[in-house]
Amino acid sequence: MPTRTPMPRALEPACGPHHTPARRAIDRAVARQTLGDLTDAYQWAVYARTLAHRATPPAEQLDAAALLAPLAAVNGHADQAVTAYRDLADLATAHLGAGHERTLYARAGLAQARHRVGCCDQAIRDLADVYTTAAHRHGPDAPVSLNTLTELACLYRDCGWPDVAHRCLAAATTIANRYLPSGDPLRARITDTAGTPASSNHRAVCTQARWS
Ligand SMILES: [Zn+2]
Repeated sequence: MPTRTPMPRALEPACGPHHTPARRAIDRAVARQTLGDLTDAYQWAVYARTLAHRATPPAEQLDAAALLAPLAAVNGHADQAVTAYRDLADLATAHLGAGHERTLYARAGLAQARHRVGCCDQAIRDLADVYTTAAHRHGPDAPVSLNTLTELACLYRDCGWPDVAHRCLAAATTIANRYLPSGDPLRARITDTAGTPASSNHRAVCTQARWS
């Protein structure tokens, strides 16, 4: 779908006298998302990001970008999701630092967005680098490290590298079993990922050509 800036419905009265227009749009996007209206939430998020420009506080810019990127992806705007995640990663790096968890998650989201449009080599390379940075800065047992390693396994699996995917998941399982309690949802996610087959949807865009 073409990238555009849809104007949502007219602004309603302000939620609070101290809220900026960008913050009000962020709040409305969150409210629509909570109600499950992802299309409207996406439009409000686009609007919020246009309002949260350089003159607004960095926290508003980050919050708007962090809303917009996943909403673009879930609404099927794959190319815009790449742009939005790149924007988010740049903002997070500038305001929080390269090693911050939010920055690492933003870069992981960018890698996933690139993978969805067939930039497989770059996506895998970038996500592997995110994992290396996360493990070095936060430890291999940190949620950001284990989530990234599990997601890296998904990218390898969907690109037709089941052996590499299995090695990533085996390492994640070993770390999770050693450091996380038995009921931790991250352990369940790793187990679920190990039992999930490669995505047939990715084959249409995959540029790895590893399929037999
Ligand atoms: Zn691929």
